[in-house]
Amino acid sequence: MGLLYIVPTPIGNLLDITYRSINILKKVDYIISENIKHTSILLKYFSIKNKLLKLNTCNEKEKKNKYIIMLNNGKNIAIVSNAGTPVINDPGYLLVKHAYYNNIRVVPLPGACAAITALSASGLKTNQFCYEGFLPKKQKSCEKKINSLCKEIRTIILYESPKRLIHTIKLIKKIMGSKRKIVIAKELTKKWENIKKGTVKEILNIIENNIYWEKGEITILIDGKKKNKDNILSSKILNIFNILKKEMKKSTAIKITAKICGFNKNILYNNIIKKKYNEVD
Ligand code: SAM
Repeated sequence: MGLLYIVPTPIGNLLDITYRSINILKKVDYIISENIKHTSILLKYFSIKNKLLKLNTCNEKEKKNKYIIMLNNGKNIAIVSNAGTPVINDPGYLLVKHAYYNNIRVVPLPGACAAITALSASGLKTNQFCYEGFLPKKQKSCEKKINSLCKEIRTIILYESPKRLIHTIKLIKKIMGSKRKIVIAKELTKKWENIKKGTVKEILNIIENNIYWEKGEITILIDGKKKNKDNILSSKILNIFNILKKEMKKSTAIKITAKICGFNKNILYNNIIKKKYNEVD
């Protein structure tokens, strides 16, 4: 039984490939590539001579069977994409999935990935994040998706085409508000690498009417929604009020809640209880 290696390639700077990746690309029987012309340039740069086979999103369903047979027959195969980690918004998922059905060992190599590279430099929270790939192209589905991410508290990572950048940031502004912090990371590891961080409004000011942002590869990061301390406090106070209200008159419950929480009873009533009263009652 052969091995299926997942081999990341640089996302711009050709030096961002590991020794191990080069060794594997030299020693496997075949390299499966998203684009033969593109991969040939990389192989030439590192003096790697090997046989290339095609696998792209259009032919993956059909080609995977052929490659599984080759793996079953003992051939070692490496999969690469045009840039970064294969399978991550790149072809290969079906092949990996079927490798498992056939008890073929999948060997992942660590390496370049635009999402992680951008995240590491974003200055946004990195201990919890979610990767969402590309947003849907259709306006309605795109809005729906951003809406569904609105309350996400983890840092959100998106891939985006430069042509849609302004449109997407405008949608983020419309749905998440102009104050949400975002980062746009352009051309990472390349000569014109540029990372900008600011509120949605500030970033929009930078990229609007500037053709510089209409080209190049872009990764967007959105700060997760911050927990509103006032809301947490309000809900704790309301909790106390609700418990007391079951045992006594409403006015007494307000008075005692105010005492427990150290508020003036009128302020407590007008600012918290009255506002929520419909939900509370
Ligand atoms: N598998 C790849 C990876 O591991 O990063 C991602 C492939 S996906 C088809 C390509 C998208 O990744 C681009 O449209 C862009 O959003 C992002 N990307 C790739 N290279 C980048 C770079 N150098 N700087 C910023 N974003 C990049």
